[in-house]
Amino acid sequence: MKIPFHKSHITNQEIEAVVSVMKSNWLTMGEKTIEFENNFKEYLGVDYAVSCNSATSALHLALKAIGLKEADEVIIPTNTFIASAEVITYFNAIPVLCDIEADTFNIDINKIEELITKKTKAIMPVHIAGQPCDMDEILSIANKHHLKVIEDSAHTLPATYKNKKIGTIGDITCFSFYPTKTMTTGEGGMATTSNATYAKNMKINRLHGIDRDAWDRYKMGSKASWYYEIVDNGFKYNTTDLASSLGIEQLKKLEQMNSARFKIAEIYSQEFSKQKNIIIPTVKTDRTSAWHLYIIKVSNRDELYEKLKEVGIGTSVHFIPVHMHPYYKNKFRYKETDYPVANINFKKILSLPIFPGMSEEEIQYVVENVCKYAK
Ligand SMILES: *Cc1c(COP(=O)(O)O)cnc(C)c1O
Repeated sequence: MKIPFHKSHITNQEIEAVVSVMKSNWLTMGEKTIEFENNFKEYLGVDYAVSCNSATSALHLALKAIGLKEADEVIIPTNTFIASAEVITYFNAIPVLCDIEADTFNIDINKIEELITKKTKAIMPVHIAGQPCDMDEILSIANKHHLKVIEDSAHTLPATYKNKKIGTIGDITCFSFYPTKTMTTGEGGMATTSNATYAKNMKINRLHGIDRDAWDRYKMGSKASWYYEIVDNGFKYNTTDLASSLGIEQLKKLEQMNSARFKIAEIYSQEFSKQKNIIIPTVKTDRTSAWHLYIIKVSNRDELYEKLKEVGIGTSVHFIPVHMHPYYKNKFRYKETDYPVANINFKKILSLPIFPGMSEEEIQYVVENVCKYAK
């Protein structure tokens, strides 16, 4: 049997939607993108949703919207994908790394405050594997020190924290529609916020800094729709109607895909909890997970990875901590000893296949082989 680490759930529903855009006369950002943004913000119950071509660009726009400047500091967990750190460096600002919790793999809320300095501008929690961070604690630290909260929510659609949907909590929340994430547009991202100023800033900067309302003010009498003004130094970060039409269809079945993931997680946890060699992921009772990843901890991670590969099961590691990557280590002089929990965690973690469309047989095959080879 061959089980990939991930397979996107694409059916005729998506294929027909994309083909109909291809047959239309408008391929890039247009009506379908507006429809996707509207559906997305309605689904979450948030005021603004700004689509762009990746979560990385959404995070970049978010940091620009809050006015991040050179030499500012942003606190992020060291256990994350490099994009979370990278976007901070776009401003010549500094990613300040925080250690993580052993049970949730998320930023350790008890270690955030000691990292705050006069230069700290924001906290960027990352909801690892789809489980929300302790947002009440993070918001209270942020309020106390007048910091912004930008959530890297690339793993976390849909998920809730104390019955609130992720996407409605922090100042700005950024989602990813990369193929391995919980829904996809091929490549894509979305930033959500309830702050009108941030939303407008992100919309302007995702497309070259063009102010689209400018022609309303253009006093030549005619509807001079060719007129625009550049009001900021923006980027080319917009998405396309091709991608958005895929997103519209994926969003319709998001809950269905989430319950399929949840069921796989339940079976895994039930079976692996019988094994004393395997530590299963725990989700705290006041939150729900998007189950983007199912991460186990074992003492023979590298061996298990190889064994599973030999029997046709694709697995992966999330993540190599930021402080271990040569570029970041050299540039920001991170000290390995500052992140004891993340260091131990990194040696043990393995992400197993969890995607809608996995058959009972495939799930059982993973269970059997993980139980057989885990030490
Ligand atoms: C995937 C991922 C991103 C980047 O998403 P893209 O849409 O590929 O830019 C950012 N942060 C985390 C934690 C991710 O896993």
